[in-house]
Amino acid sequence: MSAAPKDINSIRPWRTIERRKSRKIRVGSVEVGGDAPIAVQSMTNTLTHDIEATVGQTLALQEAGADIVRVSVPDPDSSAALRAIVDQVQVPLVADIHFHYKRGIEAAENGAACLRINPGNIGGQDRVREVVAAARANGCSIRIGVNGGSLERELLEKYGEPCPDAMVESALMHARMLDDENFHDYKISVKASDIFLTVAAYHQLAEATDAPLHLGITEAGGTRIGTVKSSIGMGNLLWAGIGDTIRVSLSADPVEEIKVGFDMLKSLGLRTRGVNIISCPSCARQGFNVIETVKTLEDRLAHISEPISLSIIGCVVNGPGEAMFTDIGFTGGSAGYGMMYHAGKKTGKTDNEDMIDDIVRSVEERAAELRGA
Ligand code: SF4
Repeated sequence: MSAAPKDINSIRPWRTIERRKSRKIRVGSVEVGGDAPIAVQSMTNTLTHDIEATVGQTLALQEAGADIVRVSVPDPDSSAALRAIVDQVQVPLVADIHFHYKRGIEAAENGAACLRINPGNIGGQDRVREVVAAARANGCSIRIGVNGGSLERELLEKYGEPCPDAMVESALMHARMLDDENFHDYKISVKASDIFLTVAAYHQLAEATDAPLHLGITEAGGTRIGTVKSSIGMGNLLWAGIGDTIRVSLSADPVEEIKVGFDMLKSLGLRTRGVNIISCPSCARQGFNVIETVKTLEDRLAHISEPISLSIIGCVVNGPGEAMFTDIGFTGGSAGYGMMYHAGKKTGKTDNEDMIDDIVRSVEERAAELRGA
């Protein structure tokens, strides 16, 4: 009997993340759940009825790699604007609805790919039926979005405070209202600003349903603390195989949310997009200014979407070793020169003054090769 070929997980089992088996739904052209790549999403913060501004921000998110973009639909002007927005962008849009079921129906009719709406909050099963009918007729899925800060009064009275049991009970109650309409194209989120509560709620929910899960730590704060909290909370869940789409919530430009989301998935080997820079913190041994170089390269390589690894290491202590495992590498040397590496092999000396242009050119050439392949 011949031996089965070894896959990457059998070679490095300590890198394996086994994803929870969820059912697959669609958000427009994007699959969510099952074996689909974990989708990265963000939300616009423009007035949705300001069509030009919302299209502009959506296109910026799309350019940054967003798989899905959510827009608020708080009033009829916003639901009416959706049609024009949808027509000018490629990325599928989720309409964020609170309470007003009519906005949900209008959004579905105007091209939203998904409605973020909680069936239990819109005034009864008859209205749920109407929203589901509109969603079904327009190929729209639904996200149930439970938030620790806005749990139903009865659940708060029953449990005393927002807790995992309360959040999961709320989510399953909303889900049942869709199941009762024989509508199963929904995903669920149970977000809280507290990472312990969020992680525990998602673990519990993951056991209770096979619906795809949208992960997020809500109201996580500004870029630095929000990234830290999201990476701990969502990273913990993703590492455990839980999560089919993610939104990093930052009080910052939404494009930052997409960048952080991809970096999180890249760090766990769950998605590859763009240049993954491996760089050292620098110290007295550095042969060039590592910190300034990395900042410049991040800007100059932001347009690359092909997965390419790049090591930028200050000296020979770690440079050659890191370069062995990256597509392109640069290691600082002495007398104003460093060493370039391609696919782990030393390819020659480069003057520090030319290194940035050389590295950018090498990455662009590699990206073109990958596109061609
Ligand atoms: S790789 Fe070299 S320059 Fe970078 S931190 Fe380590 S010793 Fe310092």
